[in-house]
Amino acid sequence: AFADVPLAPPDAILNLSTMYKSDTSDQKVDLGVGAYRDNDGKPWVLPVVRKAEKQIADAQLEHEYLPIAGLKSFTDAAAVLLLGSDNPAIVDQRVVSFQTISGTGANFLGATFLSRFYPKGTLVLLSDPTWANHKNIFNSASLETQDYKYYDPATLGLDLAGMLSSLQDAPSGSIVLLHACAHNPTGVDPTQEQWKRIADVMQAKGHFPFFDCAYQGFASGDLDRDAFAIRYFIERGFECSIAQSFAKNLGLYGERVGCYHVVTRNAAVANQVRSQIARASRAIISNPPLYGARVASTVLNSPTLLAEWKDSLRFMSGRILDMRAELRRLMLEKGTPGNWDHITSQIGMFTFTGLNPEQVNYMVKKHHIYMTKNGRISMAGLSTHNVQHVAQAIDDVVRN
Ligand code: PMP
Repeated sequence: AFADVPLAPPDAILNLSTMYKSDTSDQKVDLGVGAYRDNDGKPWVLPVVRKAEKQIADAQLEHEYLPIAGLKSFTDAAAVLLLGSDNPAIVDQRVVSFQTISGTGANFLGATFLSRFYPKGTLVLLSDPTWANHKNIFNSASLETQDYKYYDPATLGLDLAGMLSSLQDAPSGSIVLLHACAHNPTGVDPTQEQWKRIADVMQAKGHFPFFDCAYQGFASGDLDRDAFAIRYFIERGFECSIAQSFAKNLGLYGERVGCYHVVTRNAAVANQVRSQIARASRAIISNPPLYGARVASTVLNSPTLLAEWKDSLRFMSGRILDMRAELRRLMLEKGTPGNWDHITSQIGMFTFTGLNPEQVNYMVKKHHIYMTKNGRISMAGLSTHNVQHVAQAIDDVVRN
């Protein structure tokens, strides 16, 4: 029955990590993976996660099914983390929150809900470029996507004018996917002033914001600051969707801990929306997994663990900032042609180096440094042990 199934292209990132693993050079560096690594290149389990796990183990809990919407102590705390406890949307009970299979599942649940209850034929506007899975997810839920201008290769920064005119030219009432902070893959975020201009155009056009928030606390080290855009749009009166992931900020990658939230007009609308998202989620996962949500809930609901988590976020984002500063310093020291300010002005897990696919290929083949074709490097893959080698390799590639 399946003889005519065409072979799908390999997933670029997974392919990269296979190549990295089979490389026997002792100089090899993995700058592809979007996961935090410590200065020895090792995964890091946050101390608060270990403590929460111990509490959970000691409590001898059962393993019954969760409700369709998930673990309420977790989803409530997750909404507060995004919006702030005094947010009128929370106080007025007009936020709908569902536990999902991490950020990916949150994007997909949102796409599924919108494809059913948003006017037929509405476009989803995606930044050019964006996380490789966005188009895949929205198209899988039968929504059509279109790019909006975002990144300017000439300045290695935000093309604000281009972005605003793309939003202006799109059909009114479009869904606009916005990265809440730490844009993947570019590391380029709008400033607070620029967010205001974006909100102005979106409000005039009646566009619907769909925030993807995969890096709260990871961008600046400050959970509140990284939630600025979301809180600002809500304050301006927008209804919106938010896909939230705890993969990076709690280091719970494989536990798949996330939430999909919809901020609605009022509590009655919230109830209607909640009933339909429940139907959709029931068809996809029936009910979400318990363990990771318990871990997150334990951290989010304990003032002591929450404070310790904030220290860990500052520690992780601080190490990344140190690596940014060091890599830029080395480029300047070597006098490598070009401007390297973007290494420190871009934020979050990734830097868009500006290297082209041919140069990337050279980085892999000659220097054993693995990065995605678009020139993106994960700053978490850098360490005091390998940053010299990486800087030397970039210098070599740029000069040759
Ligand atoms: N959105 C963006 C922008 C991401 O970078 C990621 C992680 N790479 C995700 C969503 C989803 O990740 P996860 O499903 O692991 O939470």
